[in-house]
Amino acid sequence: MKIGAPKEIFEGEARVAMTPDSALQLQKLGYDCLIETGAGDRAGFTDEAYKQAGVEVVHSASALWQASDIVIKVREPSDEEAARLRNGQTLISFFWPAQNEAMLETCKSKGANVIAMDMVPRISRAQKMDALSSMANIAGYRAVIEAGNNFGRFFTGQVTAAGKVPPAKVLVVGAGVAGLAAIGTATSLGAITYAFDVRPEVAEQIESMGAEFVYLDFEEETQDGAETGGYAAPSSPEFREKQLEKFRELAPEMDIVITTALIPGRPAPKLWLEDMVAAMKPGSVVVDLAAEKGGNCDLTVADQKVVSDNGVTIVGYTDFPSRMATQSSTLYSTNIRHMMTDLTPEKDGKVVHNMEDDVIRGATVTYEGEITFPPPPPKVK
Ligand code: NAD
Repeated sequence: MKIGAPKEIFEGEARVAMTPDSALQLQKLGYDCLIETGAGDRAGFTDEAYKQAGVEVVHSASALWQASDIVIKVREPSDEEAARLRNGQTLISFFWPAQNEAMLETCKSKGANVIAMDMVPRISRAQKMDALSSMANIAGYRAVIEAGNNFGRFFTGQVTAAGKVPPAKVLVVGAGVAGLAAIGTATSLGAITYAFDVRPEVAEQIESMGAEFVYLDFEEETQDGAETGGYAAPSSPEFREKQLEKFRELAPEMDIVITTALIPGRPAPKLWLEDMVAAMKPGSVVVDLAAEKGGNCDLTVADQKVVSDNGVTIVGYTDFPSRMATQSSTLYSTNIRHMMTDLTPEKDGKVVHNMEDDVIRGATVTYEGEITFPPPPPKVK
């Protein structure tokens, strides 16, 4: 069978779902690989590099979609792309099925079998396919780099002949995959890093990454992680008040605040309020990784960098992984390759779409003319 990766058409998207290296691995599984001309350019992979890896370079999107039994992509399909789908064809990409009901219907009516990379169950066995974590890790790293780019001082403290420089103080709000990556990056640059999360079980992880966990003086346990599958639930008003009080206390001291707090299926909680920005020193930076979901900071404008009246820069970009397209394409294409390995048990270049397999079932959102989202809960952890 043939696997093809088209050029991403979403504006500004620089990632690509197949790299020359991942193509070599896909060929070992028995597949022929195709790429649309120029698809890897913005991620640093030339047509020539693909050719050397044995990939056929195809000169138009329509030819690519037509020739491919399996189409692999980064972004969910646009209407124009979905129109190219055909019966029995497999599509693997991010899809966000809960927000894209109309697209689910289209894919169903086309008879395409769609695997959503954002629906891969977060169980141990599937970690190698967990593209959400791969991309969140990059976003967390890049958030610190963007912060540094907008911050006029060192992260690390120094004693120099020209004077003593204090270390930067960084606060990370939300210590999921992105938050932990941000903590690791800020700490490795020499900052003094603090972090907060509503899930108390992450305190140990925060401390193991070299940051100080910000404890709240709050008696009751905030939530039972088991009830929410390890994800955060909205906080009680009392807890939220305590949290905001703590942030108000920290705001004048922090040079950089990186917010990553998300609650599945809801808008991002507002946690870094206007008065906290006003209390920060001029030259401080807020990077809001929750910008796409409405932002954790009151002043965030999605896809923009704004400066507050008191000189605090607030970065609301929503394309952090795409800003590191070589790295993110490498990790994403590896996640896809692992998915293909599980779909190809005989390594004979033929897809076996096993709906009895927890991971494949969990990620499949349309199959043989049916919508198969939402999936049943996985049987194993
Ligand atoms: P996420 O992107 O959904 O949320 C980011 C963080 O924001 C979370 O840590 C959340 O607790 C926190 N948050 C929410 N509201 C907050 C508030 N008011 N104040 C402060 N923080 C707040 O999280 P994620 O990175 O997708 O990870 C969520 C869970 O999934 C974690 O338990 C993680 O360990 C788990 N996970 C498991 C696997 C796996 O087993 N394969 C892979 C990745 C993540």
